[in-house]
Amino acid sequence: MTGQYGYAGKILKVDLSSGNITHVPTSDYADLFLGGRGIAAKIYWDEVPPQIEASHPENRLIFMTGPLCSVPGFASRFQICGKSISTNQFSFCNLGGSWGAQLKSAGYDGVVVSGKADKPVYIHVDGDKVEVRNAAHLKGKNGFYCQNEIKKELGESVRVLTVGPAGDNMVSFATFLASDDSVGAGGLAGVMGSKNLKAISVRGDKKFKVASADKLSKLRRRIRQMSGGYVEPLLAMGLLTPRDRLKKSFCQGCPAGCVRATYPNPEGSQRKFMCQAAMFYETRAQRYYGNTDVALKATELCDDYGLDTRATETMIMWLSRCHKSGILTDEGTGIPLSKIGSYEFIETLLQKIAHREGFGDTLAKGTHKAARSLGSDAQKLIKDYMTRSGDNELYGPRLYITTGIFWAMEPRLPIQQLHEVSVPVMLWGARQKGLKEVPVTTEVLRAMAKRFFGGELGVDFSTYDGKALAAVRIQDREYAKESLILCDLFWPIYFSEAAPDGVGDPSIESQICSAVTGREVDEVGLYKIGERICNLQRAILAREGHKGREYDLIDEYNFTTPLKGDFGNPDCIVPGKDGELFSRKEVVVDREQFENMKGEFYRIRGWDVPSGLQSRAKLEELGLGSVARTLEREGLLR
Ligand code: SF4
Repeated sequence: MTGQYGYAGKILKVDLSSGNITHVPTSDYADLFLGGRGIAAKIYWDEVPPQIEASHPENRLIFMTGPLCSVPGFASRFQICGKSISTNQFSFCNLGGSWGAQLKSAGYDGVVVSGKADKPVYIHVDGDKVEVRNAAHLKGKNGFYCQNEIKKELGESVRVLTVGPAGDNMVSFATFLASDDSVGAGGLAGVMGSKNLKAISVRGDKKFKVASADKLSKLRRRIRQMSGGYVEPLLAMGLLTPRDRLKKSFCQGCPAGCVRATYPNPEGSQRKFMCQAAMFYETRAQRYYGNTDVALKATELCDDYGLDTRATETMIMWLSRCHKSGILTDEGTGIPLSKIGSYEFIETLLQKIAHREGFGDTLAKGTHKAARSLGSDAQKLIKDYMTRSGDNELYGPRLYITTGIFWAMEPRLPIQQLHEVSVPVMLWGARQKGLKEVPVTTEVLRAMAKRFFGGELGVDFSTYDGKALAAVRIQDREYAKESLILCDLFWPIYFSEAAPDGVGDPSIESQICSAVTGREVDEVGLYKIGERICNLQRAILAREGHKGREYDLIDEYNFTTPLKGDFGNPDCIVPGKDGELFSRKEVVVDREQFENMKGEFYRIRGWDVPSGLQSRAKLEELGLGSVARTLEREGLLR
C-alpha cells in the first residue's frame, strides 16, 4: 500500500456548515490516484453531486499536494480543484510558491473544504491544531492586505492562501493568491466567496520520509546534467521590462529556474514577475507612457484584487474595440476607456470588477456574458480571437493541430498540455532563427518526438496524421505530472546535451516517483496512472453535461478565420514533412480531418468512436469499475 513514504499521510476535511473537522488517510486514494489532480478528482467524483451549482455548499474546494511537493529539488506545487463559478463544471489550477510545502509540513497532503460558514471565516492549520477563525475584518479586503493581517495575528512564519474582493464577490475570473505571489485561476476562487471563506493559513514543522534518499540524490545529479537552462531565454522572449530590474525567485525547492523573478515595487515590497502575468498590460503601458512601469503595477493590482491577468487582458481587447466602435463610452461605463494603457484606466477597471460596482458588475460575469448583455454588435467584436472559456487564443489547432484535442476536451485553458507541444517546437524555431545555444536541431526534435509523442509524425505539422497518438501520450504524461506534482515549465525534460541523440529521458519522472514513494513504477506504469486520472476526469465532465463527441468542440473561428500569427511566431513557422520549414499562416482547421483526428483519439483511448463516450472495458481495465457502473446507469457509457 502506498503512503508510508512521500506523503504526510492525512487529508484534512473541514465542513464550514457544521464546523466538523476530520481527516482521512491519504492511502485511501494514493495507490490509484497518486496525489494532486488525481486524488482531488476522485474526492470530487465521490462527493460533489453533478447537478448542483458551483455556489452550492455541497461543492468542494480541494487543495491537494502530491508526493513530490516539498521534496528538495522538485518544488512545492499544489492543485486546487472544485466546480467552477465560471463554467459550473469541474475545474482545476496549479500553484507554486511555498504554501503547499507548508501544508505538508503541518501534516496534511491536502485540505477538502465543504459547506458554507454563516459569517466570514478563515481556516488556520497549525500542525495538529486546526481552527476556523473569524474573518469579518478581512471581508472585501485585498489579498496582500489579508496576508499581512493574518501574519500579524499568527506570526510571520505562516503561509497564507487568500482571495481578494473578486473572490469574495464571486467574480467568474477571480484568482487565489498564495504565498510568494502564487496565483491560481480556473474559476475557483469565487467558490471561496460562496463559502464565506477568506483564507487558509498553514504552518508546520513535521518531516516526512522518502523511500530512497540515495536514489534521489543520484537522480538530482542526473537531472542537473540533463537540463540545459535554455528554456529561460525562450520564456523571456518578448518581455519588454528590463531584466536588470529583476531578481530570480523560484518556488520553494525548485532547482529549475524559469522566468520566475521578483522586482521591487515603489512601496518597498518584492512582487512576482513571470510568464503571461509579466506580459500583462506591457504593450499598452509602453504605448501610453513609453515605459512598462505601470504594467508591473497592473499585474500587482490584479493579484491584489484577485483577478486573472489572462482573462482581464482579453477583456481589455474587447473593451477597446467596443470603445472604438462607440458601443461603450467613458461616461456610460464610469471607466476611462479613452485612456487604456494608463494607471487610471486599469485601477478603475479592476476596482469596479472586483467590487461589482456599476458596469463592473456586468464585466464580473466574464467577457462573453457581458457582450451578450450588450447585444449582437458587442458580441461580434469578440468572435475571432477569444475562446469560449474567455481566454485569448494561444497555441491553437490552426498552428499545432494536436492542441485541438486539448482545447476540445479540457474544461478550462489546458496550458500545461499546450506547453508540451509548443515549447519543443518553439525551441526548434529559436534554433532555426540562429540561436546556436539552443540544441534543438531538426534531427533532435524528430528523435524527441519518437520517444515522447509516439512517432516523428507528432512534429510534422503538414499533416493531421500522428496527432491523435501524440495527444494521448501528452495527456497521460500530463495527468501524471499534475498528480506528482511537477511543474510544466521544467518537465518533461525533452532534450539533453548529455545524451548522444540529444533527447531527454521520459522515464525520469517514474524513477523519481519510485525513489520518493517506494512504489515500483516505470514509465508505462506512470502513464497508466495518468490515463486513469484522465478517464476519471472525462467521467466527471460527462456527468456534468460534456457528453462525448458532440461536446468535444473547438471554437468556430478555427474553421473559418485564417491564422494571422502566434505568440513569438508571427510567420507561423513549424516543422513540416521531414522537418522542413512549414508555414501555417492563413491556415484554418479542416473540419473533416479534425473529426477524423477525434475518432482516432477515441480509438486509441479505447472509447466508443462514433459517440466519444467511454467504454466499460477501458474503465474496468483502469480499476474504475464503480465509475463505469455509475456512467452506465446514467446512459453515459458505450
Ligand atoms: S520552474 Fe519556475 S514556476 Fe515551475 S516550480 Fe520552478 S520556479 Fe516555480
